[in-house]
Amino acid sequence: MWFLIVMILSAFVCYSIASAKHRATGNWFLSGLFLGPVAVLILLLLPDLATKEEIPGVSKKCPQCGEVVKSESRICRFCGYDFIWPDGWREEDHISEREWIEERRKRLLRGN
Ligand SMILES: [Zn+2]
Repeated sequence: MWFLIVMILSAFVCYSIASAKHRATGNWFLSGLFLGPVAVLILLLLPDLATKEEIPGVSKKCPQCGEVVKSESRICRFCGYDFIWPDGWREEDHISEREWIEERRKRLLRGN
């Protein structure tokens, strides 16, 4: 009987650790149920999936706040940093704000 309790407890422990490590909770709940404390140990050794490192083609690091966002992001979801028109672009190209807004609008309509 205690064996069953350990397995069920492991399933719930796995579920909460998986949730904290941004991993598949359902899969880890089942792993805990069948593997018991072994699954808990494996899960504890695995890294958190919410990584702070950028993966080329998948994610990129925001130069302003340092958070990792999806590589196709146009605007940082943490700080609002603009990846299309980085800060300083206007000064470098010496164009008016009106031209900048118009150019930006055209680019957004074209989808790049
Ligand atoms: Zn940012």
